[in-house]
Amino acid sequence: MSIHKNASQTVSDGKVVSIHYKLTDDAGELIDSSEGSEPLEYLHGAGNIVSGLEEGLAGRASGDALDVRVAPDKGYGAHDPRGLQRIPRGAFPEDVDLEPGMQFGAEDPQGESTTVWIVKVESDQVVIDTNHPLAGKTLHFAVKIAGVRDATREEIAHGHPHGPHGHHH
Ligand code: ZN
Repeated sequence: MSIHKNASQTVSDGKVVSIHYKLTDDAGELIDSSEGSEPLEYLHGAGNIVSGLEEGLAGRASGDALDVRVAPDKGYGAHDPRGLQRIPRGAFPEDVDLEPGMQFGAEDPQGESTTVWIVKVESDQVVIDTNHPLAGKTLHFAVKIAGVRDATREEIAHGHPHGPHGHHH
């Protein structure tokens, strides 16, 4: 007799998956971790997490621990050098202490809303980047799957999990 994990507990489209994870870069430097907090919940197949990590988790089951290496094209994309720009300090709200790593909403020349990250603050100019800070990086995830459950109809319609504490939009 062979015993299989119940198919309802394996990661596939339409499942809400909770994971504990540790994310490091090529140099082994810690980028992010769920340690000390609730596991991250995402709706599989809805693009809530980078595609390379979704692919690595597909078919795995609750309780599995695995390492997933995600190249930039399945992570946050290649780094486009044209995304680096120097703009006047005055373009930012005056009452904010600007620091590298801060994230702002912006409008591109076509009027589309976009996100920019501060790279460097100079006396009257600020270097921003429209690339995600993890663009161009290979991501190394150490993942433990804490739980897999069916998504509710509402969660599927919204494209994200609502979690044990309800949700906020
Ligand atoms: Zn929702």
